[in-house]
Amino acid sequence: MNFKRANHGFFLWFLSVISFVQFSCNDDIPAASQDRFVDNLYGNTTGLELIIAYEQGADPYTSFGGFDNWRITDYNLNQLLGTQKIPVKVPHVLDSMKNLGVLSQNNYTRQNIIDIAADVQRYSNKDSVKSIVLLFLNGYLIKDGVIETRVLGLNIDGSAVVAIFKPVISASSSKEAEKNMVEQSTVTHEIGHVLGLVNNGVPTTSLHHDQANGSHCSNSNCVMYWKNGAGEVAQYIDRFTRGQDITLFGEQCMADIKAK
Ligand SMILES: [Zn+2]
Ligand SMILES: [Zn+2]
Repeated sequence: MNFKRANHGFFLWFLSVISFVQFSCNDDIPAASQDRFVDNLYGNTTGLELIIAYEQGADPYTSFGGFDNWRITDYNLNQLLGTQKIPVKVPHVLDSMKNLGVLSQNNYTRQNIIDIAADVQRYSNKDSVKSIVLLFLNGYLIKDGVIETRVLGLNIDGSAVVAIFKPVISASSSKEAEKNMVEQSTVTHEIGHVLGLVNNGVPTTSLHHDQANGSHCSNSNCVMYWKNGAGEVAQYIDRFTRGQDITLFGEQCMADIKAK
């Protein structure tokens, strides 16, 4: 089927309800150089599975307006890693995701996230088939003792662990459609970090590293642009109405992965 065309109406619909939101992606503390996930990924992987676990009450949105949300992440990761011949398996429904029940804490430190992910991970990530753990948490990030109510997502630097802070996604807009889009773009953005973007394990092949904002991309049409991970998506989504393409990664980021 023509996937791109099938999605066009979805984004048109999004545009009609979109408004301005501003939240952030949190750049993590750079990890020590040894044993980074990204260093063992390219040229050494035949399959990558996304393992999704959610806390009770923080379950991922799976569909909106009859549209399968997870096809957005699925399409974009497979497009990005297709040039490396790494197929990505993405769950689309809650039955394929793990329900963690209600966790004991209300908010989460970096170490809490690492510990929860360790219980969920089923792969050593030393073999050719690897996985990324994505946790949907019903609380906020605690950074330096402060509760971060505006951080949407976090990749534990150097690891295949991503946390999504559901209350921040839920508060990103009063519009259901926009929350759904913010969630998918946040997931894709954070996984972009896991995969070494931008210039954080995968070297840049052009001048698009926005160093002032961490491991982000200077192309505002790319999901790795810092404000796009930040959920400031109005302008970003606007382009979907002009074309028939749901590609989230810009050509510079895709070129970096291809050249890795
Ligand atoms: Zn980011
Ligand atoms: Zn980019």
